[in-house]
Amino acid sequence: MKIADIVTRSVKLEGAISNAVVSFDDHDVSLVAVVSDVVRNGRPVAGIGFNSIGRYAQHGILSTRIRPRILNAAPDSLLDESRTRFDPARIYAAAMKNEKPGGHGDRASAVGALELAIWDLNAKLDDRPAYAAVAEAFGRTVAAARVPVYAAGGYYYASGGGRTLRDELQGYRDQGFDAFKIKVGGADAAEDLARIEEALAVAGAGSRLAVDANGRFGLHDALTFGQSIAGYGLRWYEEVGDPLDFALNQALTHNYDGAIATGENLFSLQDVRNLLNFGGMRPGRDIFQMDAGLSYGLTEYGRIIDLLERRGYSREQVFPHGGHLINLHIVAGLGLGGCEAYPGVFKPFGGFPPSCPVVDGTVWPSDAPGFGLEEMPGIAAAISDLLG
Ligand SMILES: [Mg+2]
Repeated sequence: MKIADIVTRSVKLEGAISNAVVSFDDHDVSLVAVVSDVVRNGRPVAGIGFNSIGRYAQHGILSTRIRPRILNAAPDSLLDESRTRFDPARIYAAAMKNEKPGGHGDRASAVGALELAIWDLNAKLDDRPAYAAVAEAFGRTVAAARVPVYAAGGYYYASGGGRTLRDELQGYRDQGFDAFKIKVGGADAAEDLARIEEALAVAGAGSRLAVDANGRFGLHDALTFGQSIAGYGLRWYEEVGDPLDFALNQALTHNYDGAIATGENLFSLQDVRNLLNFGGMRPGRDIFQMDAGLSYGLTEYGRIIDLLERRGYSREQVFPHGGHLINLHIVAGLGLGGCEAYPGVFKPFGGFPPSCPVVDGTVWPSDAPGFGLEEMPGIAAAISDLLG
């Protein structure tokens, strides 16, 4: 058994929205297919992955560095002991040949897209859903409980523009969500506090509403805004300052009693170790949002979860960034705290297919083979395009 080819395409995100820092207008995603030499129903079995949402496709790194390394490796060196599956850890190592340590940026999401495609491929070879393959690989039994999800969005609307924040959140509630996250930091504090009040009218309680500053605040603004929202008892206060400003994060944990959330812009085990060493994250309280698609894939992600547990944190404190089907399978397979969801935005990758309805704020992956990305009509079209 061997990898016959790796093909990739950059797929544009739909939906021109912005947060406090970036516009998603020109963002795209790397869709990757790892094509095996196993033929079923007249077609080679292919694993599909992508590098999450909210950044850029990595066509150059995938095509000129990673693809040749994998295709030139001895085929047997990429298989696990059973010789019936590809070994994600060995493929991750092969993809990193000649790469220096550190500098975990775009490379981490290029490798992530490839490595996740291997998990999809293995699950398809076994004709089972990815969450079952993930659970087995990490020695877990799949819990019967459904995955708690929250609707992320809460963007800024021009006053007098018709649609309001309240309309947006009520739309999510009508779809079955009972927890929400809105943006802050993109307006002055008075307007953001008014937006929080508006959102609370739909969410019903602070424990059902999180706020995300997208790294916008310096230390002074982080602490001041934290003081002004302390009374709401919000679910969490997310990515308050620069993701690598661990001193700011630590100061915040000393001055803000509610949960804080961060990690979506940490792309490696070492970056997370630094967060734990210097960022003040509190066991049993704060939230970790690392995303396998942005951080070398599930092999590295598993090592991150292992580190968190060894340092006294619970996997229930982990809510991966992303809001898509791959992370839903990962959360279900690893028994993490829950999952972000992006209903209605970041198409075609955001949200879940009709086979995975949101019920009382929870969702469960379907039993389609692999990640079931073929059940998302927009992704299915891009996959057909990619595989020809
Ligand atoms: Mg965020």
